[in-house]
Amino acid sequence: MMNGKTDVKNLTLDDLIAFLAGKGKERYRARQIFKWLYQKDARSFAEMTDLAKDLRRDMEEAAIISNLEPEALEVSRDGTRKYLFRLEDGNTVESVLIPEEDRTTLCISSQVGCAMACEFCLTGTFRLARNLTAAEIVNQICAVRRDVPVRNIVFMGMGEPLANLDNVVKALKIILHDDGLQFSTRRVTVSTAGLVPEMERLGREVTVNLAVSLNATTDDVRDRIMPINRKYPLRMLLDACRSYPLPGRRKITIEYVMIKGLNDSLEDAKRLVKLLSDIPSKINLIPFNEHDGCSFKSPEQGAIDVFHSYLLSKHFTVITRSSRGADISAACGQLKGKLDKSVASI
Ligand code: SF4
Repeated sequence: MMNGKTDVKNLTLDDLIAFLAGKGKERYRARQIFKWLYQKDARSFAEMTDLAKDLRRDMEEAAIISNLEPEALEVSRDGTRKYLFRLEDGNTVESVLIPEEDRTTLCISSQVGCAMACEFCLTGTFRLARNLTAAEIVNQICAVRRDVPVRNIVFMGMGEPLANLDNVVKALKIILHDDGLQFSTRRVTVSTAGLVPEMERLGREVTVNLAVSLNATTDDVRDRIMPINRKYPLRMLLDACRSYPLPGRRKITIEYVMIKGLNDSLEDAKRLVKLLSDIPSKINLIPFNEHDGCSFKSPEQGAIDVFHSYLLSKHFTVITRSSRGADISAACGQLKGKLDKSVASI
């Protein structure tokens, strides 16, 4: 609610049907409005010319359509685009568009800051300020789509999506709906540091790909670099992966940030293979990006190659991520919700 008005971008189609039913309006009106919002990018009810005038007027009195415009945009040498959005309350979040040959992937934020405090992550050094609303999540996509077509969505920006599960599920229902943003479930991935009960709930409530930020093969190391492991240790996390309802022949993405001397040995690779032996999974190796305020170092290329080759030899699908957008701090674990001072506003 804003000034006593409902933000329709916070409503799933079912919510909008209920909202209109309260005003004595038919269900199909909700679908019309949804299509205007997400397929025609309407910013006002006045634009919705196939709605009766009295309905447009009623909507203007009772509801608003929120919107985000990027306050700044940085473009990396490799084409990665980092958008900074200022929210109503002055907080900021970032979204990162990663262009690849056959697809573009938009990495969106779900919280301002993050409470998980993963030791390798710059976002984690900022405490959690607040959850994003569903509208603030979908509006990142709406805004970037005006600039560049978006093929895939990953919830891997600022924040732990499953710590804001109600709003993330709402946003997913808008992102995936045929009358909404129309993304296929194959093209949307939610990443988690390992909130086990919420993983189960996510799987029950929506069909979506899951990525798990694993980053260690022993509880000792994971306890140290990801405090959430003290609550949900590896055994519980991997059980939750095993029971996650993946559709068809899809696989869980295992994210593994490689840190020199900590988790990048051949022994780690061997343990990882054992841990994942009965979990349909593909592995993304992410060489750590060095940044101020963290003493961890990037792994040697030789260690990455040995790790990668071992996983391949055990028939895993493995991708070693190149550090996209590292020159503009858009790489994994580098989002901090503000752009460098040198960047011009747009
Ligand atoms: S890695 Fe993800 S969950 Fe961990 S602190 Fe960073 S944003 Fe939060």
